[in-house]
Amino acid sequence: MERVVSSATHVDNATDADRVNAWLAKFEPALCGGDRAALEALFVDDCHWRDLLAFTWTITPQVGLKNVVAGLLAAQRRAQARNFEIAKGRTAPRRVKRGGVEVIEAIFGFETATGRGHGLLRLPLAQPEKAWVFSTSLDEIKGYEEPTYGRRPMGNAYSRDGGDNWAVRRAKEQAFADREPTVLIIGAGQSGLSTAARLRMLGIEALCVDRNVRVGDNWRLRYDSLALHNQVSLNHMAYMPFPPHWPKYLPKDMLGTFLEHYAAVMECNVWMETTFVSAEYDDAGGHWNARVRRADGSERMLRPKHILFANGIVGRPNRPKLPGLEDFKGTVMHSHDFREGAAWKDKNALVLGVGNSGHDIAQDLQSRGANVKLIQRGSITVFSVKAAALQHTVYYDEGLPTEDSDLIVSAATYPLAVRNAQMATQRMLEIDKELLAGLEAKGFKLDIGEDGTGYMLKVRRIHSGYYLNCGASELIVSGKIGLIQYEDIDRFVADGALMKDGRVEKADLLVMATGYQNQQVVVRELLGNEVADKVGPVWGLDAEGELKNMYKPTAQKGLWFIGSGLQQARIWSRVIALQIKAREIGLIS
Ligand SMILES: Cc1cc2nc3c(=O)[nH]c(=O)nc-3n(C[C@H](O)[C@H](O)[C@H](O)COP(=O)(O)OP(=O)(O)OC[C@H]3O[C@@H](n4cnc5c(N)ncnc54)[C@H](O)[C@@H]3O)c2cc1C
Repeated sequence: MERVVSSATHVDNATDADRVNAWLAKFEPALCGGDRAALEALFVDDCHWRDLLAFTWTITPQVGLKNVVAGLLAAQRRAQARNFEIAKGRTAPRRVKRGGVEVIEAIFGFETATGRGHGLLRLPLAQPEKAWVFSTSLDEIKGYEEPTYGRRPMGNAYSRDGGDNWAVRRAKEQAFADREPTVLIIGAGQSGLSTAARLRMLGIEALCVDRNVRVGDNWRLRYDSLALHNQVSLNHMAYMPFPPHWPKYLPKDMLGTFLEHYAAVMECNVWMETTFVSAEYDDAGGHWNARVRRADGSERMLRPKHILFANGIVGRPNRPKLPGLEDFKGTVMHSHDFREGAAWKDKNALVLGVGNSGHDIAQDLQSRGANVKLIQRGSITVFSVKAAALQHTVYYDEGLPTEDSDLIVSAATYPLAVRNAQMATQRMLEIDKELLAGLEAKGFKLDIGEDGTGYMLKVRRIHSGYYLNCGASELIVSGKIGLIQYEDIDRFVADGALMKDGRVEKADLLVMATGYQNQQVVVRELLGNEVADKVGPVWGLDAEGELKNMYKPTAQKGLWFIGSGLQQARIWSRVIALQIKAREIGLIS
């Protein structure tokens, strides 16, 4: 497990920086001179390199000495990376324990022929002349630096030069009456907005369309009791962190309000009540013909060069066919449509599905006085939010700037992620020992993933199959929320679920917390079979352990995907924006 600073943090800092400097001083000539033997002498056998754009213009992990060195040498021909040095103004080299290994961890800066970046270096204390983990991330493209801080615009153009003032300019920008957006972003949730903000900083015109009425509805419209399951330090939006007094676990409406302000303040172009209907790629023209439907029913054909799906990586709610459900006389709804449970006081409710939504909804119904039972279809991973926070926020609780924590997080190749998750899972099992024993005693089926990586790798592999406990597990243990195993149900009948032992579990309400269709289904519906087949599945792991089609070029020119939590939106929006910018200025095709 990756874990925080050893007690020796303060010790020997000068020496640690010297060691990092010594490593970088050998690395640069070896890399620039194409000296394979010298490079091989600088890495341990089980070494890892993850490149985010800087060398390879995509997300490239390499594992093992031969692969890392071969990959570096091959990419260096184009990258021409140089000027490696300990990064100024960033977290200084320090001793930490990562994945059970004592290391000197350092952030370094460098440039390439076309950009500037930062990377992470870990030198094992046992062998500090060699690197164990090395990463390289592109921050900016030369000549296209973001107009922030020292590069702020004067602002005269917005008010004093006789032209349109800021408000009029913004209204015109938003309208896209006489021009086309370069990027059409489907969805104005955190993923779409973060990318729109990043693209704006790079001078790329983007338009977010969203079928909801107000920005932030992606959160507001979820069930009333929803608060984030991970902490605020992990979740800040790009450029605009949450206010310092905001709670650790943000309630969904607060987040919705923030997103609405974010869109306005970051000058994101957004068309709400606008549905993306379909698009076809025009190979000859090098753009999409994309149809969007506005609130009044009118349609507009847009011609963006890029389409970014920021639609939540899911499609319509999954509504599995359940035996006898047509006979059930109670109310059936998907978790997507559930708001709050007050109407079900003193009524019997069944909730099918034991993921986060199923648990949250059962807890809400129970707190409103309903008699509620969860129906479990398969085993899942359960950990308390307290135990999970140790893993979630591991880098984000070290008091580092968010950008440094982001760099540390994104250095992990898949094998490192597996190793970290396995170690973290063992720790969480220990922390949650009593809770898990209580659940098992109630017949709750638990697992920790096929390789002991717990919920963390389930997120990457299947995007489901876990619950981070915010209180529902205790209610199951105490019997306040009942538990039924799906295989014990024979079928649904008029007044509930007929069990195989002949009893009827009475129900007035059945909530299906059964998840959503996957993104490939959505792509097929909106972009057609040819594109869906060419691109293949979205999300899940590819052969390198990276997410399929996420945050990097797809097999369809001009088609990109982003989605998931707030941390991912912050980190990957920059990766996508830089890739699009590089194409727009002809750095890559
Ligand atoms: C119950 C629940 C709890 C969660 N808790 C957490 C948590 O604690 N921490 C965390 O980091 N993440 C959490 N997540 C995961 C993730 O952060 C959210 O799903 C988040 O909303 C994803 O943001 P997004 O911007 O990628 O997509 P979404 O928020 O899903 O936004 C997609 C937007 O696209 C729009 N859209 C989709 N299709 C179209 C179309 N064809 N035309 C126009 N508009 C369209 C939708 O209206 C929507 O507004 C949770 C998710 C759920 C469901």
